[in-house]
Amino acid sequence: MDLFEYQGKQYFARFDIPVSPGGVADTVDQAVTVAESSGYPVVVKAQVQVGGRGKAGGIKLANNADEVRLHAGNILGMDIKGHVVKRLWVEHASDIAEEYYASYTLDRAAKKHLLMLSAQGGVDIEEVAAKDPGAIVKLHIDPVDGISSATARQAAIDAKIPARAVDGVASILVQLYRCFTEGDCDLAEINPLILKPTGEVHALDAKVSLDNNASFRHPEWDDYRATEELDSREQLARTHDLQYIGLDGSVGIIANGAGLAMSTLDVVNQVGGTAANFLDIGGGANADVMAAALEVINFDQKVKSIFINIFGGITRGEEVAKGIVEALGRVDLRAPIVIRLDGTNAEQGREILAKAGIPESKLMSKPTMLEAAKSAVAIANGK
Ligand code: GDP
Ligand code: MN
Repeated sequence: MDLFEYQGKQYFARFDIPVSPGGVADTVDQAVTVAESSGYPVVVKAQVQVGGRGKAGGIKLANNADEVRLHAGNILGMDIKGHVVKRLWVEHASDIAEEYYASYTLDRAAKKHLLMLSAQGGVDIEEVAAKDPGAIVKLHIDPVDGISSATARQAAIDAKIPARAVDGVASILVQLYRCFTEGDCDLAEINPLILKPTGEVHALDAKVSLDNNASFRHPEWDDYRATEELDSREQLARTHDLQYIGLDGSVGIIANGAGLAMSTLDVVNQVGGTAANFLDIGGGANADVMAAALEVINFDQKVKSIFINIFGGITRGEEVAKGIVEALGRVDLRAPIVIRLDGTNAEQGREILAKAGIPESKLMSKPTMLEAAKSAVAIANGK
């Protein structure tokens, strides 16, 4: 789950990472109220989950209430790369001497945490990586050992952070690591991490992505979930507890197991189609789950065909078939289904589907994944 900047900063503050005083505002009046209590000058910042807000005009400096009104009015409702601004973060503006970059992510291949640190912050880190890869220090951290103050200091020195900022940066690196691990983040990024002319180091932006698998030990994340930006398809999928991710294509996908679901997307792509979604109904899915999955896919207006790819292990073929028959009784599917049903009880499943007397125009069975993908793509592409 991705957090908005203001939520990320609140999260940082829990782990003693210094951030500027400020508050959220959903209206121009609220923006002025927050500005008055934060102290001028302030920055008015669009809260959207997309980078480059500054360049898009979503971040403005204001020296008094009139300027706050002007900028807040302009930014609220602004469209930044397809994200409409509904909320602002207003904070006391900082004087900036230098801008750095710091982040922690998980390097799955190395089975370690990865610190990235650069003295060239503020800009896109991808840009720095492309132009001057040597300017980014990458350091693997063993999750059992964590990062010591000494290691953090050395990383700062290696990244050519100036001597007067090294201690401040190192202490934030240690706190940010705590935030990343104890806070169960997939990503914790500060860009820019700034050095003020007074010598203090401080987080000016926050990009935090939480690991949903850890939500059971974070009841406080419920607040974030309430503001999470999901599209309407994803919201519907969530009410059914489905592992669904909305995409832009025209072939609706249902598969059991995340690996098979991803392979299904690949095959659809290979034969010239585009997937409308990722949907893993999991192992042992029953008829209800299948019916819910079809309901969610049917809700997507772009879907022109539905590819159900099941290789039954724990998931049983007859349950899948029952779910399809039930769903066809419950919802009027706009798009035809192409199914590849294999594995546990596949034979029984195919019998159930045949006996249900569903016309070919609504449901077509194919023996292999490739043949099923070709048929589903042909239908979606209008061939
Ligand atoms: P992003 O463009 O979406 O990553 O938004 P950031 O929060 O990183 O802000 C972009 C840029 O705006 C920063 O790199 C700063 O140069 C500038 N900026 C943001 N806040 C302040 C501030 O308090 N004072 C000053 N002087 N500049 C700021
Ligand atoms: Mn930024």
